[in-house]
Amino acid sequence: MPSIAELKSKVCQEIYRRSEEIIGVANTILQNPEPGFRELKTSHLVAQKFVELGITYRDGIALTGVKGIVRGGNNGPTIAVLGELDSLIVSDHPKADLQTGAAHACGHHAQIGMLFAVAAALAKSEVLPFLNGNVALMAVPAEEYIEIEFRNTLRKEGKISFLGGKAELIKLGEFDDVDMAMMTHNTSVAAMKKLTVGGTNNGMVAKQIRFIGRSSHAGGAPHQGINALNAAMIALTAIHAQRETFRDDDTVRVHPIITKGGETVNIIPADVRMETYVRGKNLEAITDASNKVDRALRAGALAVGGRVQITTLPGYLPIINNSDLVDLYKINASALVGPEEMGQASHRTGSTDMGDVSQIMPVIHPYAGGAVGTSHGNDYLIKDYQTAVINPAKAMAMMVIDLLADGAAKAKKVINNSKPNMTRQKYVSLLESQIIEEEYDN
Ligand SMILES: [Zn+2]
Ligand SMILES: [Zn+2]
Repeated sequence: MPSIAELKSKVCQEIYRRSEEIIGVANTILQNPEPGFRELKTSHLVAQKFVELGITYRDGIALTGVKGIVRGGNNGPTIAVLGELDSLIVSDHPKADLQTGAAHACGHHAQIGMLFAVAAALAKSEVLPFLNGNVALMAVPAEEYIEIEFRNTLRKEGKISFLGGKAELIKLGEFDDVDMAMMTHNTSVAAMKKLTVGGTNNGMVAKQIRFIGRSSHAGGAPHQGINALNAAMIALTAIHAQRETFRDDDTVRVHPIITKGGETVNIIPADVRMETYVRGKNLEAITDASNKVDRALRAGALAVGGRVQITTLPGYLPIINNSDLVDLYKINASALVGPEEMGQASHRTGSTDMGDVSQIMPVIHPYAGGAVGTSHGNDYLIKDYQTAVINPAKAMAMMVIDLLADGAAKAKKVINNSKPNMTRQKYVSLLESQIIEEEYDN
């Protein structure tokens, strides 16, 4: 029976041996960016790689998700390793798709590289007979919560229930056979160094907003119209006026955009649409800020004598990193990159649907460096693929060995020590209760 150190060395060697192929997978995805629930090429690539590795899988989960399973020699817990399939839309990014504007300005292409690396390491390095348990290799759709109107249409058509990929997978029961989960996100924040684990994230709700006025000739008869764009402008100002009431500790973020400002320039706008998130550190802060935003939106409609439709949708819940998994990750990660290359985790004001998974099971969501530029900006690029893909893939493969070798003693300890915030059913009910459609007609 090989030792845990020998098993770790085997998976790391397999990843090292395949480095070029792994980085190639990430680069193929970088060249073919696709936004959430539309990741058809990316999803197909993952499935093709699973076939090459002889891994059984299902695809088309939540439209584009792919779930492969590798089984250890003996029964035991199931660990999910996740990678996110989707890109953003940043049309002036140097790697943007010319037709769609899609671009990997958050580094998710690197995550699929890591997922493939972990899959190859487990399937091809002869470690599986010595593991007690399984690994679910999950390529998940739609982490970036964008194109809210498009996704809300998918929801109304019954194609999805929630607008984020992991929430949808939880609802579909794809996490029912999973005991704990991990993924690694990339970062360009220098203080986070090569690998960082821990810390917290904001949660959020999302809103799709439609101001309805009355169209009329913008030059000849503006008095016969009701200007929905003016309603939106007043609402935006009213939202800004709430900001002094947000407490610093709650790290509230509200950042609306106008997605439709009118039809043509010579018509008083009668249909103006906006999207926004309302983010905060905890559910109370999010709910409080969300109510204030709704009030501000109604104020815009009231002022011009128009109407506003507000659809509030569940977004993401704040993340909890499991402390046992964090401790274990720190040991593996610092063995790989050295303790001086481990960054400090703190509170992040962005959001992730890994937060949702963390409400129902033990989770870690570490960060790997190797990126430069501004996250979600047109200059965000992965520069150092060793740091961005190879190291974090090795760290996750080592975690799997630690957790499932030795009769899965460590995985069992994590499960026994953990107390998830809620059951899957309670989670789904919570999200369903967050869907609120309101029409305000003054
Ligand atoms: Zn992002
Ligand atoms: Zn991201």
